[in-house]
Amino acid sequence: KTIDIASPARTQAILNQYGLRAKKKFGQNFLTDGNILSGIVQAADLTKEDLIVEIGPGIGGLTEYLARAAKKVLAFEIDPDMVKILAETLAPYDNVQIVEQDVLEADLKTVLAESFGEKSAVKVVANLPYYITTPILLALLQAGIHWEKLVVMMQKEVADRLSAKPGTKEYGVLTVMLDYYASVAIALKVPAKAFNPAPNVDSAVVTLTPKPAEKPVDHPKQLFSLVKACFAHRRKSLWNNLLQRFGKEEAVKEGLTQALQLAEIDPGIRAERLTLADFTRLYEALKEKKV
Ligand code: SAM
Repeated sequence: KTIDIASPARTQAILNQYGLRAKKKFGQNFLTDGNILSGIVQAADLTKEDLIVEIGPGIGGLTEYLARAAKKVLAFEIDPDMVKILAETLAPYDNVQIVEQDVLEADLKTVLAESFGEKSAVKVVANLPYYITTPILLALLQAGIHWEKLVVMMQKEVADRLSAKPGTKEYGVLTVMLDYYASVAIALKVPAKAFNPAPNVDSAVVTLTPKPAEKPVDHPKQLFSLVKACFAHRRKSLWNNLLQRFGKEEAVKEGLTQALQLAEIDPGIRAERLTLADFTRLYEALKEKKV
């Protein structure tokens, strides 16, 4: 019986065998703690029916756990050196497909349809490259894929932002956008020593469960672009950020004033106090007043 890819000894042996070290530029920190890997599998609630998308399989430590617990795993890996290693480490599993590609460049909808069939629901399970956590989350949420669960490891500080409450310093654009699509929970906290090499930060596994938007809008991207503009200068009032975004002409000011009144939002407030529902009302009011 072979030992797990993710065990500390085998992880180091694989890196030695290929004469490689974890690459910082790709955010490579390999999980070497079997308890954490089991915790991730558990948080994802995996069954043999599940279709999994993994981002950044690395040397395959998490992938192996996923392959054992799920029906099929499709994994995107940017680093050709890792892809070479995976061909060997994952050879025993016939239900894993590796795509050598930058996940941010991938046409997720098309690739998923090709691998899993149109409209199949997937679970995304990943130990994310931390330098692109936010772009990856946004890409997943906006790709128009049918996902039933996202279980993703990230820097604890980012996890805290995802689940922040209005009025706190962690609350921001990401919190509001996430709230549009999903319920967020922190499943596990993960100490740096669970990785080789140990990152400089603590980590957390976050689960996202889709929820239908309470007040869906016609163009979510436009709503988020408004939210971003409102947070452009965090310490400034909503009014100042809106002027910055829409211009300072008298007609614009008049339209903005009316829209804020219609939405029942105080122009002197800061964006960090506004909930998704507030931003949605503001978005609709701005459209109605043709700002
Ligand atoms: N899954 C492995 C584990 O848990 O041990 C490795 C996780 S490591 C934190 C992140 C992985 O993402 C690395 O293998 C890295 O090469 C890969 N990666 C980095 N940027 C990527 C990108 N844009 N697209 C796909 N994979 C990427």
